[in-house]
Amino acid sequence: MTSPRIAFIGAGNMAASLIGGLRAQGVAADAIRASDPGAEQRARISAEHGIQTFADNRDALTNADVVVLAVKPQVMQAVCRDLSAQLAPTTLIVSIAAGITCDSLQRWLGPQPRAIVRCMPNTPALLRQGVSGLFANAQVSTMQKHQAEQLLSAVGVALWLDEEQLIDAVTAVSGSGPAYFFLLIEAMTAAGEQLGLPRATAAQLTLQTALGAARMACESDVDAAELRRRVTSPNGTTEAAIKAFQAGGFEQLVQQALNAAAHRSAELA
Ligand code: NAD
Repeated sequence: MTSPRIAFIGAGNMAASLIGGLRAQGVAADAIRASDPGAEQRARISAEHGIQTFADNRDALTNADVVVLAVKPQVMQAVCRDLSAQLAPTTLIVSIAAGITCDSLQRWLGPQPRAIVRCMPNTPALLRQGVSGLFANAQVSTMQKHQAEQLLSAVGVALWLDEEQLIDAVTAVSGSGPAYFFLLIEAMTAAGEQLGLPRATAAQLTLQTALGAARMACESDVDAAELRRRVTSPNGTTEAAIKAFQAGGFEQLVQQALNAAAHRSAELA
């Protein structure tokens, strides 16, 4: 299959990561266009990736099979209304904006039914280590689903959702998730320092442990609970720590935190 022609509306951090990922996968520079009102963003993205850029969003649309809406949620409505008359009926719309539903996008893009994929990526996409939840509305064809998946796979793992409202759960788990791990890293580093380690040593021990544990869990055939059991000897040091976590209600706290994020995500949509 020939690669689709992709137009990015908004050439900020997320668009730059996606374009970098696509180029690294061998997508030709002339298959990608981008628009952004910022001259600096345009100059950077065309210098880095050799693609054509435009100040007017409508100019990026020419012959596009896929239009990626990569602007902040607050400008999305104005951007969609401006693009609606210019969009071909068969164009796939991919939105990466947090909290904007397919219904809102459809309303802002005019009366013509649109094929829309709504995605929730996360920040490690900047290092091509992201994970995204994707939802396709009823207008999206099998080929377009493949195109959207290829796009998001360029910056990590892409997982399809059957219901749009599950985007709130994805936001709670992976969208906001990097910050939870950062919090644990902060807390473990501080605790290590409290136990007498130099701060830099405590930080390095924590970071390498986080990386090693994540890789072990990713590469293992068994789940995280089994891996934990295997490293927890009866009456040992790990068991002492796990017991302290559980006595403090660790699992319930994690559930409450994710509930709060999902609730907030639903409120914002
Ligand atoms: P960003 O600020 O880096 O990029 C947004 C770009 O849009 C900027 O370059 C800005 O100049 C441009 N812009 C502003 N008005 C515009 C207009 N009218 N037309 C075209 N472009 C316009 O933001 P980002 O981090 O790349 O986020 C983009 C979208 O991705 C947001 O909707 C955000 O919710 C979503 N998102 C980002 C992340 C992340 O990790 N950064 C994660 C999940 C979702």
